Order: sequence, then structure tokens, then C-alpha cells
Amino acid sequence: MNTYARLPVTFVKGEGVWLWDDQGQRYLDALSGVAVCGLGHCHPRLTKAICQQAQTLIHTSNLFRVGKQEQLATRLVELSGMDNAFFCNSGAEANEAAIKLARLYGHNKGIALPTIIVMERSFHGRTMATLTASGNRKVQAGFEPLMTGFVRVPYNNLDAVAQVAANNKEVVALLVEPFQGEGGVNIPEVHYLQGLREICKQKDWLLMLDEVQSGIGRSGKWFAFQHSGIFPDVVTLAKGLGGGVPIGACLAKGIAAEVFKPGNHASTFGGNPLVCAAALETLAVISDENLLDHVVELGDFIRNRLSTQLANQKGVVDIRGQGLITGIELSVPCVDLVKKALERKLLINVTSDKVIRLLPAYVMQQSEAEQVVDILCSLIKEFLNN
Ligand SMILES: *Cc1c(COP(=O)(O)O)cnc(C)c1O
Repeated sequence: MNTYARLPVTFVKGEGVWLWDDQGQRYLDALSGVAVCGLGHCHPRLTKAICQQAQTLIHTSNLFRVGKQEQLATRLVELSGMDNAFFCNSGAEANEAAIKLARLYGHNKGIALPTIIVMERSFHGRTMATLTASGNRKVQAGFEPLMTGFVRVPYNNLDAVAQVAANNKEVVALLVEPFQGEGGVNIPEVHYLQGLREICKQKDWLLMLDEVQSGIGRSGKWFAFQHSGIFPDVVTLAKGLGGGVPIGACLAKGIAAEVFKPGNHASTFGGNPLVCAAALETLAVISDENLLDHVVELGDFIRNRLSTQLANQKGVVDIRGQGLITGIELSVPCVDLVKKALERKLLINVTSDKVIRLLPAYVMQQSEAEQVVDILCSLIKEFLNN
């Protein structure tokens, strides 16, 4: 169906941070399939793990125990400090699981119409519940009636949450991204998550973090909440988890980990042997190659180099980010830059109309990052000075 305004290019091969189109032209990838391919394209270890699993067992059913799924759950629990995991196939589905979990938690407490606090400019997916939770009219328009049971507050504003806490007796949970990716690469102030944790604890609300984009190393830690020294009750994951295969997860801790009982939630494909083998190997490579340290260093390098090259450039409003997500906010809409970059054989993204977003693979070398920044800065200058 006509759901994407696609760019006129077909990639047929990938290796590391490089892609080749069907004309044999090579492109430098600073998008990574929108924060999915953290190990770059076709990392030899990931490719091998997928091939081996495909030769052994691809799918059984969640009617039976799934060894690879149990191993993956164990590893995610180790890395996150959470207690258990539910596996699904996408970010939206991971958030659906979280939303259902919060509603059931509320009903178990005797709250008839449980409500979840969500944020302005948030993005949680395109299913009915998750587009309702998203703070973006563009993803909602035309799909009314939206769902009930959500109340919206400004992002990075603890007072607004405290105000809801004082007035609304139906709230059972709060769903928030540790940084907003689609919403324009918005990084909240350092104590924001701690403040939310405090309010949620006082009110017995579940703190539910959408780490679909920020999780699995993108921020420079395994999970972005680990920068704050807090634990959430629920964390959702997807994008980077499988290195490119479709897998999502909803992790829970403490009381939240006890909410779902057999029959409450399910997925036919969720956590099958093939995708779990891919995710296990993705996590193993991130550990073995010390990629988290590299994510921190390379992210700082990219933002420093951007700041230097764009220092006196009129029209550059802000350069911000965390780990390997970087946003360059311009004073004018700049969606056209994506096409111009493609002509220069560079893949970038623009979100929220005015924010150029870079999401390179964790395996990108410094010399490759230099090329990304240099091509991009020359494009930005050309664009803003004409
Ligand atoms: C991409 C994204 C989603 C949606 O994930 P899908 O796999 O496309 O359903 C949800 N939340 C956040 C924060 C995302 O970045």
C-alpha cells in the first residue's frame, strides 16, 4: 500500500556502515535502518548466528518452552536489573504489552478506568493504543476515535506530572521515553527520570520507559535509564535488540513483573528461536567488542566536530544528543536535506521537520564519522546560505 513516501533507491548489499544500491553505487549509512542495525550491516557474527539457528530450528510456538528465548530473557534481566520479559515483534507491540500491563495493574487495584500519563511530542508506535499514546497529531489524524485512558503532559516538566498526581485518582502508570527520538532528539535535564521515579513511587504508579530507540546501547549504556541510577517498573525494547531481525520485548520488575498471568497476553511469533538467537548474538558482540565505550566516544567526537564546523553558521539552532543519537536543529524546515544527502551518497534522517537526526551503527570508525560530519556540514552550509 502507499504508506511510505520512499526515496528512489534500492539497496542490495550491506557491509558495516556501507550500503550498495542496484547500480553498484556505495553509500555511507548514518541511519542504520532507523536505529536498528547497531552492529552495522551483515556483521559476520550476527550473520553466522542467524544461519546456524536457521539450520537448527526456526520456530516452534510459545505453547512450549523456547530455550533461546529463556537465554535471552536471562541475559536481558542481567543487563537491566529487571525481573522478567515478554517477547513480541516490534516497538509498538512492546508498548502495547506495557499499556495492557498497566491497565491490568490498575484493575487489580480496583481502579475501573485506569489512566496512563503520556508526553507531548512522544512517539510510541502506530497501533491504535500506541498512536493514541503518541504526542503527535500527524500519526493520529484520520484514525479517530482514539482510545481513552491517557492524559498528556509536557515532556521534561516534573511540575506538570505533580499536578496530575494531585488531581487525578485514576492514574496507574506513566509512559515516557528517556530521550525523545522521533519527537526531535529531545534530551531531558539530568534529574528528570529521578523526579519521575520519585512521584511514581509515592503514588504507586508504574514508571514505564519506552526504550525502543534509546535501549540496547544507543545512549552509551545498555539502557538509557542507567544514566540516572534509577530502576523503572517496565521497559520496552525493539529497534536495536535483534540487530535487524524483528523482535521486541517488554521487561518488568517487582510488582509489575507479577501482573500478567497465563492467558493475559500472547504472541504467535514473539521470541521464536531464530530472532532470539540473533538478539543473543547482538548482545554478545556489543559486550565482546566493548561497543558501549565506543558509542560514548564516537558520539562526543561527532558532536564536537559538528560544533566546530558549524560554529558561526547562522540558522543552526542547537546540536544535541546522547551516545550515538545526535540531533542538529535548524531554524527552518529541512526535510529536503535527506534527498541532497542521498545525492552525496550519505544516509541521514530529518525528524520533527527541523531536526537532522544521526543514528550511526556502533561499529562506525572515527574516519567514517569524519566523512559523515564533513559531508553533512557542507550540505547544511549550502542549504542555509542559499
Ligand atoms: C520506533 C519507535 C517505536 C515504534 O516501533 P515499531 O517497531 O515501528 O513499532 C516506539 N517507540 C519509540 C521510542 C520508537 O523510536
